[in-house]
Amino acid sequence: MIPKPKQIELFDEYFQLPYAVKVAYDETDELMDDLLMTFHRDAYTDLWVDAGYSRRGGTMQIEFRLKDVGLPHPEGYELRISKNKIECYATDVLGFHYAYQTLLQLFYLALNHDKGMLQVQTIRDWPSYPWRGMHLDISRHFYDDEEIIPYSSWMAALKMNQLHLHLSDDQGWRLELERFPELTEKGAWRRIDEYTMYGGYLDEFNLDEILGVLEELRINVVPEIDLPGHAMAILSAYPQYACFPRDFEPLSVWGISEDIICAGNDKAVAFLKELVLEVSDLFPGPYFHIGGDEAPKHRWKECPKCQKRIKDLGLKDEEALQGWLIRELQQTLEQAGKTIMGWDEILDTGVDEKPIISVWRGDGLDAAKLAVENGNRFVICPNQYLYFDWRATPGKKGPHGVTSLEKVMSLNPQDYCFGRPDLLLGGQANMWTEHTPEFSDVRRMIFPRIFAAAEIFWNGKAEPDLPERIARLQEAFK
Ligand SMILES: [Zn+2]
Repeated sequence: MIPKPKQIELFDEYFQLPYAVKVAYDETDELMDDLLMTFHRDAYTDLWVDAGYSRRGGTMQIEFRLKDVGLPHPEGYELRISKNKIECYATDVLGFHYAYQTLLQLFYLALNHDKGMLQVQTIRDWPSYPWRGMHLDISRHFYDDEEIIPYSSWMAALKMNQLHLHLSDDQGWRLELERFPELTEKGAWRRIDEYTMYGGYLDEFNLDEILGVLEELRINVVPEIDLPGHAMAILSAYPQYACFPRDFEPLSVWGISEDIICAGNDKAVAFLKELVLEVSDLFPGPYFHIGGDEAPKHRWKECPKCQKRIKDLGLKDEEALQGWLIRELQQTLEQAGKTIMGWDEILDTGVDEKPIISVWRGDGLDAAKLAVENGNRFVICPNQYLYFDWRATPGKKGPHGVTSLEKVMSLNPQDYCFGRPDLLLGGQANMWTEHTPEFSDVRRMIFPRIFAAAEIFWNGKAEPDLPERIARLQEAFK
């Protein structure tokens, strides 16, 4: 199983999985009703389509009961698997959700590797970290609900719970907003050649589909609008908000644009506030990622409006101006009930302790230390370990560095605590898509490394036998 359950007690008895599984639960409980809806719709992607069935006769009962069995974590669960029935105990619907994922894996393994035989056992399991995430860049190449939903169902099967969606960048804006139609009319399409445009965006229908299914998969979506850099798609729709307006187009090459949004222009700042509110309104979760990475300051250095803002506010430099802009957006989003997140560069701009930091540069240790010193909660996604657009095998030529399965397995979140384990929320693996034009490319890059990431985020470490467990399970992730 992946992630490996925290405690497994095996008994020297096996039984044949029966033909049918009957689910029993306390019908008076609304939480259970909600959960059972999920059970009846489990095969979103054919991921587990044959789980739970075998061709021999008989039926078996699975009982889900809300009961405190002394687990050390509110999202934990206990599974008692005996010859006649399976009992599952938890005190929260999330516990049942995770227990269900474990059962699906057990059934899959029994039916596909062990001739339908399942061992009698008791499992007690709970998460080590609250943040177990995957990121997906849908700007550089666009993926819609038909791809985001299977991506998320792989996450759910591995007990991951946060999907960080990178919705905007220099190369494309990917979310339809009624209030700002120009963003998708202009910002969602980039020129490939004289005759071809590339692009697309999530409309209301796509987003409803995604949010509906992900709610059942118990996955929260973190929307990211990258600001004030990585913003050429926004500037192609609203060039007046650049320091030096001209005709902009979404970039059709990879790299970072020198043109960023003007922090000295009051109208630009007011627009950004409306924009983040409009986007955050569409997502039910508590977080909003404002990006904040790789924002070159050349334009701000030359821009009279930006320089005037720095002077008027008595700011030290352009980094401090970015800090001011972040605080403006933070205030706006906090009033809307959201907690902001940002890439670790924002720690250089003088932010307060409230933003959650995505620690990404290098091995991430320096940024984690800075976050701890500043009192910020943080999520680790260091590129040397958790960038799955980096190639998995050394030797082959390609962009970026190498992040092998072994390298991912060697990640130890405890190294990042610097005396404040309470600030470390967990981890996420990032999937940037400059070089993965097809969804099959994305799948090829995240597997098998996602297994190691999921196990580390759930348990704090990857057990050495992970590769053998991957070999038994990976075929299930079609
Ligand atoms: Zn400016």
